Amino acid sequence: MTAAVIGASMAGLLAARVLSESHEKVFLLDRDDLPEAVVARQGVPQARHLHGLLARGRDVLEGLFPGLSEEFLAAGATRVDIQGDIQWTIDGRRMCRATSGLVGLSMSRALLEATVRARVRALPNVELLPRRVADGLIATAGRVHGVRVTELANGNAGNELTADLVVDASGRGSRSPAWLRELGYQCPPEDRVKIGIAYATRRFRRLPGHLSGRRGAVVNMSLDNPRGGGVSCEENDQWIVTLAGVLGDDPPLDPSGFADFAASLPDPRILEVIEHAEPIGDALRARFPASVRRRYERLTRFPEGYVVMGDAVCSFNPIYGQGMTVAAEQALVLRDCVQAGTDAVGRRFFRRTAKVLAVPWSMATSGDLRFGGVEGPRPLPVRLSNRYLRPLSIALEQDPAVGRALLRVANLIDRPQRIVAPDILFRVLRANLRRRRPAAT
Ligand SMILES: Cc1cc2nc3c(=O)[nH]c(=O)nc-3n(C[C@H](O)[C@H](O)[C@H](O)COP(=O)(O)OP(=O)(O)OC[C@H]3O[C@@H](n4cnc5c(N)ncnc54)[C@H](O)[C@@H]3O)c2cc1C
Repeated sequence: MTAAVIGASMAGLLAARVLSESHEKVFLLDRDDLPEAVVARQGVPQARHLHGLLARGRDVLEGLFPGLSEEFLAAGATRVDIQGDIQWTIDGRRMCRATSGLVGLSMSRALLEATVRARVRALPNVELLPRRVADGLIATAGRVHGVRVTELANGNAGNELTADLVVDASGRGSRSPAWLRELGYQCPPEDRVKIGIAYATRRFRRLPGHLSGRRGAVVNMSLDNPRGGGVSCEENDQWIVTLAGVLGDDPPLDPSGFADFAASLPDPRILEVIEHAEPIGDALRARFPASVRRRYERLTRFPEGYVVMGDAVCSFNPIYGQGMTVAAEQALVLRDCVQAGTDAVGRRFFRRTAKVLAVPWSMATSGDLRFGGVEGPRPLPVRLSNRYLRPLSIALEQDPAVGRALLRVANLIDRPQRIVAPDILFRVLRANLRRRRPAAT
């Protein structure tokens, strides 16, 4: 059996990895060059911006590629305790630091992807096909049999790559809805939450004294100040600083505007890096108009031999750092579905993926719906979880166990119910009764 995967970014690489167990041959094609070097590719423009890998994502990657974390470290990544080494500011309040045992790896997205790509390239039955654009599906009688491909190297269009299973991992711009329509299927209904987020990112030279030895700082947006940002260490002694604003409040790219935006955040550490570290290159922009979830699980008809995954199914507001981890979770689902049989793989995959997506989707969209300018229904659970954020942030300023609980949920290790478990509720209540402290300035 053969498989063809469209898109060799994180979702596609992980799909190829799991399919290499069940398929004799896996073709992984991408419109970009797929070099061995660590480069931010054109097809993944977001790779130039801050990318955090959640603890759950690291666990899944390590399970798929044993020894990968050590390889990241050998290539220049930094191991961080997510609560102990990073200063978090949530809802304007600084989380108290403590060792949490939640392990993160700080590195550039380009290094992360290049290291995973090298592991996939080394799989004997996976063949990378760079500079190939998928133009459409080859299908007959309710079954997809392959992909129509244009080879960019020679301009040859209409080549046919046949496969028993085709996986679309081509990202947010996936053409699956259009391809399905051409084949006489319905397009998936879409959920969309418009957040209009803009990033500005700049890199700086990292010296040991910066940030008093901390490895990063993250400021989450709050209702009082809907601006956020993060500074994180990357390989080659660099800092990456990303600033974020929503609904038209774009962080400026010019140096003084960039610094002024950072100065408006409730933790001065990001500004500290901007003011004291030597910049490397100019600031860059990324825009992310809306979180989008394509509800393939709601389609009543779907062709055999076809699956859509990763950002092509669901892409979240990036400030929550969920995309790569959710792609990794989907790879595990794909493995299970394929190993359980070849019939209705897509249907079974979408049903199970809908469950995987439910929590991160609701975390990201509920957070965005705090802001009045974001359109969308606000059912009671959304209103309640947003109301809870203030007392929770007061508690995590004082009590490391509360911060740890929140970070375990945000890192997709624990279910959201954990932060309303009786022991945490008790701590939140106690901290709020004790406190009359002002917010961090
Ligand atoms: C600004 C920004 C910041 C982010 N920060 C984080 C973060 O901190 N943490 C995190 O986990 N996630 C983050 N994400 C999300 C993360 O980048 C994605 O979720 C992750 O890359 C998985 O996406 P994917 O592989 O499905 O698609 P993509 O990464 O978009 O890759 C799609 C691939 O398909 C290829 N392709 C597209 N069309 C075709 C075609 N027709 N033929 C052949 N090849 C094609 C492209 O070249 C590309 O390689 C961020 C996203 C953005 C926009």
